[in-house]
Amino acid sequence: MTVPFKGGCACGAVRYECTSEPQLAFNCHCRDCQRISGAPFITAILVPEDALTINGNTHGHTQDGDSGGSLTRYFCSDCGSALFAKVEAFPGVLGIKVMSMDDPSWISPSMDFYTKSAQPWVTFSDITEKFDGMPS
Ligand SMILES: [Zn+2]
Ligand SMILES: [Zn+2]
Repeated sequence: MTVPFKGGCACGAVRYECTSEPQLAFNCHCRDCQRISGAPFITAILVPEDALTINGNTHGHTQDGDSGGSLTRYFCSDCGSALFAKVEAFPGVLGIKVMSMDDPSWISPSMDFYTKSAQPWVTFSDITEKFDGMPS
C-alpha cells in the first residue's frame, strides 16, 4: 500500500493525488454503475474529500441516488473516463473509481453492493461481505 497515490483518466487531461488511505473499498453492481462504466460492476474507494488534489477539468452529472439523496459522478471533460463520485448524504467523502489509479492492484474490496442486479456470470470473491442493495 502506498500513500499518497496518484491516478487519472485515460487521456491524461485529468490527474489526481490522494494523501489518505482508503476508508472503504467496495464493488457496486447496480444498474447505474453498470451503464455508466460499461462494465459488469465498478470498484471504488472512499476517501476524505480534502485528501484529494485534482488537476484538469471534470464534468459532473447528478442524478437521484437510491438512498433518496443525490449522487454526482465526475468524468474527464475530454475522454469521459469515470473518475469520482459524491453522495449528498455523505458530505466530505469522495469516491474514487479504483481503475483510474496508476496502481489499482493493492486495493482489495471488502464489500459487494447491489448483488441483486449483479450479472449472472460474475464470480464473487469469497472474502467480501455481500449486500442485496446498499448497506444502511
Ligand atoms: Zn481524459
Ligand atoms: Zn452502483
